[in-house]
This record gives sequence, structure tokens and C-alpha cells, in this order.
Amino acid sequence: MSLANKLAEERRGRLAAERLLELKQAELSAANRKLGRHAAALQGEIVETRAEVANVRTENERVRTALGQANQKVEVAERRLWHSVQTITDGFAIFDSDNRMVAANASYLAIFDKVAEIKPGVSYITILQILTDEGIVNTGNLAADDWRRMMAERWLKAEPEPITIRLWNDQYVRLVDRRGQAGDMVSLGLNITESVEYEKQLKAARAEAEAASRAKSAFLANMSHEIRTPMNGVVGMAELLADTGLSEEQQLYVDTIKNSGEALLVIINDVLDYSKIEAQKLQLHPEPFDLERSIHEVIMLLQTSARDKGLTLLLDYDLFLPTTYIGDPGRIRQVLTNLMGNAVKFTQEGHVLVRVLGVPNPETGQAEVTIIIEDTGIGIPEDKIDHIFGEFNQVENDRNRQFDGTGLGLAISQRLVDLMEGEVWVTSEEGTGSCFGFRIPLKLSDEALPEHPPVPEGLRRVLVVDDLAANRLILQRQLEQLGLGVICCASGQDALQHLDEVDLVLTDHNMPEMDGLELAEAIHATGSTVPILLLTSNPGFAANDPGAQRLFGIAQKPVTRAELFSRLQSVGPIAASAPEVAATDAAPPLMRVLAAEDNKTNQLVFTKMVKDAAIDLKFASNGLEAVDLFQSFAPDIIFMDISMPKMDGKQAAAEIRSLEAEHGGHVPIVAMTAHAMDGDDQGILAAGIDHYLTKPLRKAAIHEHLVAECPPSAQPPFEDAETPGQDVG
Ligand code: ADP
Repeated sequence: MSLANKLAEERRGRLAAERLLELKQAELSAANRKLGRHAAALQGEIVETRAEVANVRTENERVRTALGQANQKVEVAERRLWHSVQTITDGFAIFDSDNRMVAANASYLAIFDKVAEIKPGVSYITILQILTDEGIVNTGNLAADDWRRMMAERWLKAEPEPITIRLWNDQYVRLVDRRGQAGDMVSLGLNITESVEYEKQLKAARAEAEAASRAKSAFLANMSHEIRTPMNGVVGMAELLADTGLSEEQQLYVDTIKNSGEALLVIINDVLDYSKIEAQKLQLHPEPFDLERSIHEVIMLLQTSARDKGLTLLLDYDLFLPTTYIGDPGRIRQVLTNLMGNAVKFTQEGHVLVRVLGVPNPETGQAEVTIIIEDTGIGIPEDKIDHIFGEFNQVENDRNRQFDGTGLGLAISQRLVDLMEGEVWVTSEEGTGSCFGFRIPLKLSDEALPEHPPVPEGLRRVLVVDDLAANRLILQRQLEQLGLGVICCASGQDALQHLDEVDLVLTDHNMPEMDGLELAEAIHATGSTVPILLLTSNPGFAANDPGAQRLFGIAQKPVTRAELFSRLQSVGPIAASAPEVAATDAAPPLMRVLAAEDNKTNQLVFTKMVKDAAIDLKFASNGLEAVDLFQSFAPDIIFMDISMPKMDGKQAAAEIRSLEAEHGGHVPIVAMTAHAMDGDDQGILAAGIDHYLTKPLRKAAIHEHLVAECPPSAQPPFEDAETPGQDVG
């Protein structure tokens, strides 16, 4: 190889090496640049991390300080809480779920009087033991063992009832314990000694107040009785004096004495009742009673004044409604007397209709009984409707001013119905009439309704004659309830067409064109022997009419279902055999009347009141004598005073009823009572007394009872056509 070749080759080699070097250098510097960038990035990261570390450090520092502060606060709070717990005078302790004391305040510990064991860690059972062993607690009737057992059982309950314990020094502590979530028990011991003392004082004060109130009630009752007894003398004698042929002027004086006396008695009763209700001293006395009969008694009471005005009193007692309930019959009668009395008082013509509705609920054993009293009287102006239930409130207008009254009746009635948890309402149209209603819940009486014995044989169809549709309907429903067929006629003429179809005629007395007695004559004239029962609001008057001899019987209107039924019972045999009712020639004996009355003045009043009656009258001066005379004299009726020495009227009546239970019979007993206080009439009717009259007695009321109870075999007490019962209003 030539040198030149070698040189060229070397040069080529060197050039190649130079190029390689260049290449590597370029790579190196690229790598360097990359490294440089990386280093720069790393540098940045380090700076950031450092900053972060610094941040975390300061944060740590802050948290640490905050924690320290928080700890301090907690300590303060705990200390405060504990100081507070320590300062409260009630005992406070915490127990853990093992029933060991965790902490207790000073008041809690104080009770234990520094017994060494009582400190945190002590168990509740040990505490109970110490309480009894050291005589700290007064366990009363319980033996120490029993007391601890009772307390331990209570403690272990999930939610122990609060309990009051009594300490040796007569301090009372009420323990209220609550279990927390983790099973801890927080125990509070409240010192209630003051409340207990206060309660004792209250009880004593209440007993004292009740005694005082009883004394007041007794005083009121006495006063009522004491005023009524002499009033009986005043009013009774005035009534008798009025019959002794006085000059017109004297007559006026006597009437004034009588009317004022009666008005005074009404006021006394109202005011007494009202003050009792106001003092919340009026209590209801529930007892079994017959609602229909109560309404009847009120109707009888008002019959005289209604009749004097020519008003008809009607009773429509819901067919499916039982009649016996448990309620306060005296108070219910009082409400009825007031509402029905007002209806009669404020009605000059037309009728007063009493409707009794209700549906018994066997599930509750109750019935919501609604009683509605509808009249055709003067009515009440619309703007006065709300006013009249207020005390002493009356409608003040010309029409109204002629009626007297205290304006207390409705206020008393409303309160009585409130007491019975019922309600009262009224709707009225001035000039047309008023409709007062009240609804009371009444318990159905367990005493089964007296079963109606079967209707006598031979009595299947009854003819009802009455010009008033309401009356026909009421009778029709009652008779159909007994399973009888009923034909209704609105007039006597009409009735005469149906005589062959019936076994009995029930006729009203007062009817236009042909009245009940004329109808009886007309029936007799046809040759029919069908028995006729006259329903009249004035039996005394009817009995004296010649037409009465055509009658089978006379009944006072309105008739209760019981009364109606007993009349039907006696019709049965007659209807079956249909004999002529023959009159006997021999003079019948006098009706025997026994009056039991201890007060001589009142005996005199009674004697004078019946002086015109053809009766055989005997007096008993006490209950014992009354029972004796009942046996020896066999009276047809007994008038019985209630408060009498030796044996009172109620006892005497009960005695007579038990004698009758042995020997049979039922003499009507009419109580005469001066009592008008709460609950006085309860027990009177329960003693087996049939009716009662409140003193002062009224001649008319006595005469009515004589006429109504005169047995068919005796001479009627009033011979002539005198109309007993119309002379007194
Ligand atoms: P008193 O009847 O003693 O006045 P009440 O409280 O019983 O008292 O009645 C208050 C008033 O309500 C009566 O004075 C009368 O104006 C009116 N009133 C009550 N019932 C009726 C009625 N049936 N018809 C018309 N007004 C009546």
C-alpha cells in the first residue's frame, strides 16, 4: 500500500473519529441539558416539600395549643359542673353498670352521716343495707329486709318508678333514677318535705272546708224544712179560710196571703238550688228509676193548671225506648217540671207535647235520651233566645210581663243538665210556640223491664176514639205493642160504625160534637155491651156525670203504659163474658183514708181540706201507728208524712210493702213531704211510695188522689157535680 493510500486511509479514519466525537458530544450536551432540567425540577420539589413540612409543623403547633386550651376548658367545665352539682341541695349520684357509685354530691352523702363505706366504689346494695342498718330510713310498715328487697327490685328495673322514702328525721326524699345508654344510673334524691307538709295542710284545710260546707248544706236543708212546715199552716189555713164565706175584700186578702206564700216557697226552692249548684255542692244521686213514670208525675202535677186553661198535655214515649234507667230521678223531674211548667205557663191555648226519643246502645249499656217539650204558646223573640238561660233573665215585653217567676228556672235546668253531661237547646217562633229540648246519656237499668203478662183472652181489638191525631197515634202504638188490633176514629159518630169489630172502646172525654160520655150513652143505646174506658184529664168531673154509669172505667190522662195495661187486664174477663154492668141498690161503703201526720196543725189542715169528701178518715201520729192502722183499718189510700217521730214515713211505707208482699194487695201511698232539698225525693219513691205531694198541701191535689184511687166498690168521695181540683191553681 502506498503511503498516499495510507495517509488517505488515516485521514478517513480521523474524519470518521472526529464525526463520532462530534456526535457523542452532541449527545452528551443533550443529556447534560436534560440533567440540568431534572435537577432544576428536583430543586423545585424540594422547596415545595420543605414549605409543606413547615406548614404541617405550624399546624401541629396550633392543634397542640388548641388541645391544651380545650383540655383546660373541659377541666373548667367539669369543675363547674361538679361544683354546681355539689351546691344543689338535692342529692345527686352516678352509678356504673355494675351498680357501683362513681360519684355523689355532698347532699347525697350527707344523708349517710359520714359512714365510711359510703364513697365512690360502694355498691347500691350496700347503700340500702347501710340505710336500714343505721336506721337512716324509716321503712314504715315494711320490715327492713322487705324494704331492701323492694328497693333493689325497683333499682334493677329498666325504668324505675320514682319513689318517696321517709328518713328518720321525718324528711321526705323522692328518688328519681334514670338509666343511661351505657348502663350508668343517674340518681336524684329530691327533698320534698315541704310539699309533703303542704299537702298535709291542704288535706286538713279541705277536710275543714268540707265540714263547713256540710254544715251549710245541713243548715239550708233545715231552713228549707223549717220554713215549709209553718208555711203549710199559713197557706193551708188561708185556703180553708177562703172557703168560709168571706166578703169580697176579705177574699182578696186571703188569696193574697195564699198566693204570696206559694210564691215565696217557689223562690226559696229556686234560690236554694241555685246557690247549691253555684257552690258546686249539688251532687247527683243516680238510682234506678222509671223515666216514663217520672214524666207522668210531672204531667199530673201540671194537669190542673193545664186543664184550667183548656190545654191538652200529650206524651209520646218512643216505642222502642226502655223506660227504666239509672239516673237522678229527682233532678230529671226538676228539669222536666221547669221546662214543662214553662210550656204550660206561656201557652194560652193549644197543647203541650212531650216527646221522648232515643236508641239504646247495648254495647255501652247506655241510651242518649232526648226529651222535647213542644208548646203552642207565645214563643220567644229571636234576640232573646240566648238571654233566657241566664240567671234572673226573663223576656221583658208586654206579653211576658203578666207571668211571674224568678227567671232562675232555665239557669238551674241548664246547669243540672250540664251536671248530667247533657245539653239543652231551644227553638222558638214568636207567636207560634217554643220547643225546648234536652239530651242526656242515661245508663240502662239492669233491672229488667217489668214483663208484660199476656193480654187477657177475649181482648183482641180495641177502638180508639180521640179527636187529636197525636193522641190516637200514641195510643195506637202502645196497644199494638201489646199485640192488639187497633181501629182509630176521630169522632164519636165514626166510632159507632165499628162497635161490632172490637172488644173494648178507649175514648177521650173532651171531643167536639159528641164527647166521650155522650158516646158512652150512644153506644149503650145501640144495645152494645162493649166495655168503655174513658180517658180524661178530670176524672172527678167525669165520675159525676150520669153517662159515667155506662163506663167500665175512668182513667186519668195521659195514661202510662203500665196503667193502661192493668186496665186492659181487668177488661179481659168482662170482654170474654160480656155481662151487663149491673148497678147495686145497697149504698156502697165509704172510701177508707188513712193520714199519717204528727203535727197537729197539719192534721187540722188535712181534715179541713177533705171535709167535703165522703170518706172514712183516720189519723196516725207516727209511722208505727200507721202500720198498725194499715192492718186494722185496711185503708183504700194512705197519705203519709215523711218526717215523723218513732218511725218515719219511708220506713212505715217499706214496712207496709213488706206486709203486702206476704199477704198480697197494694194500697196506694201518697207521701206528704216538707222536704225540698237535694235528693229528698230519692228514696221516697224507692221506699214503695207511689206518689208524693210537697207541702204546703193543696186541696185539689188531695181530692184528685181520692178520686183516682177510690175503689169501684166504694162510694165516690164526691157526690155532686162539684169539680174537685178546679178551685186551686
Ligand atoms: P221564669 O219562668 O221563672 O221566669 P225561667 O228561667 O224558667 O224563669 O224562664 C226564663 C224566661 O224564658 C221566662 O221568663 C220567659 O220569658 C222565657 N220562656 C221560658 N220558657 C218559655 C216558653 N215555653 N215559651 C215562651 N217563653 C218562655
